[in-house]
Amino acid sequence: MTSETTTPALLREAALVGGRWHASGADGIAVHNPASGVLIGRVPNLGAAEVAEAITRATEVQKDWAARGARARAAVLKAWHAEVIAHRDELAAILTAEQGKPLAEAAGEIDYGASYIEWYAEEARRVGGEMLAPLEPGKRMMTLKQPVGVVAAITPWNFPCAMVTRKLAPALASGCAVLLKPASQTPFTAIALALLAERAGLPPGLLSVLTGPAREIGGALTAAPEIRKLSFTGSTEVGRALYAQSAPGIKKLSLELGGNAPVIVFDDCDLDAAVEGTMQAKFRNGGQTCVCANRIFVQSGIYDAFRDRLTARVKVLKLGDGAEPGTEIGPMIDMAAVRKVLEHVDDAVSLGARLDTGGRRASELGAHFVTPALLSGVTPEMAVFREETFGPVAPLLRFDSFAEAMRLANDTPFGLASYVFSRDMARILGAMEALEFGMVGVNTGLISAAEAPFGGVKMSGLGREGGREGIEDYLETKYVCLGGLEAAPC
Ligand code: NAP
Repeated sequence: MTSETTTPALLREAALVGGRWHASGADGIAVHNPASGVLIGRVPNLGAAEVAEAITRATEVQKDWAARGARARAAVLKAWHAEVIAHRDELAAILTAEQGKPLAEAAGEIDYGASYIEWYAEEARRVGGEMLAPLEPGKRMMTLKQPVGVVAAITPWNFPCAMVTRKLAPALASGCAVLLKPASQTPFTAIALALLAERAGLPPGLLSVLTGPAREIGGALTAAPEIRKLSFTGSTEVGRALYAQSAPGIKKLSLELGGNAPVIVFDDCDLDAAVEGTMQAKFRNGGQTCVCANRIFVQSGIYDAFRDRLTARVKVLKLGDGAEPGTEIGPMIDMAAVRKVLEHVDDAVSLGARLDTGGRRASELGAHFVTPALLSGVTPEMAVFREETFGPVAPLLRFDSFAEAMRLANDTPFGLASYVFSRDMARILGAMEALEFGMVGVNTGLISAAEAPFGGVKMSGLGREGGREGIEDYLETKYVCLGGLEAAPC
């Protein structure tokens, strides 16, 4: 935290290994505030030995946890949910300090993250197999749902709370034990969540939070035969590597990877709603979300009006330290992110796009600040169209027909989120069906919810998190055929 602010009690410079807190030394990984550059604290540099210790302990306690029954597990999760909500402000302060997003957004993320804990506390009691129709007298067939066992989770820095709870809650609810490796830039929120889980009565050793070099920890987790599943959220590049590493052990895998979300604005839309929805889909978390609008297609009839209104909104966004009241856009997470944003803007301009606003460093605020940008006249050969920018840049493209919009929107190897603005039901239904994405927002820029399945198709990943589907990934289906029975009297 900055020297002017008080250090929250939940900020612990330690990792949790098999039920034992492991304090960081001076050689730990330094975590800096991306807005101010100030050192927040350090977390331990753990490695393969601590992963092995955590696995041993998790294996010992997982079966007891599973045997407790769904009602008892749900009670612990509900207590954890209550702890998280009770400490919302403190958690939000930690989150903003290490990740940079505005405090109000951070508090929103704590509520959103907590909603996964609540949802899966409820879903725990709804897991069940089924009795199948008897095929012949004297035999019965049924299925049981059982926890996968000990699982691993690796999470990114952009949602330090929600990406963690979206994995931990269904895993714990189903009866699994979890080894979590949080992002090195934002470990303190995850550590605070683990501290609150411990206070809520989670058995020691059931959850470990392992900080340290990603390759070593990822390598140890994927090599361990005891780990039966890996759930990863992050870049497609790292996801692909973990997929390959998991292949020899045939681990179950969930991958939530990158996106390249299109927003399609048809000329019959409610223009004000489309502008607001696009602002939310584009600039939330400074454009650093996997479901962020990355390409904004606007139909010719309203292109100029939409561009002018969106530009006016982007120009007044307040850029600053997320801890300052009124800030709407915080810093980029690091210099690599800053460079990528500036490179995408420069590339687009050099290929003929017009920079209507922003797209420059705001060095007076700090090293990681970039002014929110709007580019018009973008074309498919530009990097801003082909790659995920992961920053506050809104690229506008003009289209004429429905077919052209669908073709351009689907012209990407990614398929996570997509958005449509229209009042014409035939267009909405047509787009819902034609878009090759795991999620479609219609007349809204905010689609994520604990109750709904979140995930992508194509190179955006495998599996779904959230909703009823989210717990299935942590369960195995066992089929039982019971023979030798007396024919049942009818
Ligand atoms: P990243 O570099 O892939 O890192 C994500 C996590 O993987 C971090 O914990 C990182 O650890 C770890 N990691 C890195 N290299 C590893 C390796 N060789 N083995 C094992 N673990 C490794 O991604 P990021 O830059 O943090 O996150 C941004 C990306 O995540 C974007 O592409 C975004 O679209 C995607 N994302 C997707 C979703 C979704 O639900 N689909 C949600 C959020 C973000 P260190 O921090 O220690 O390097």
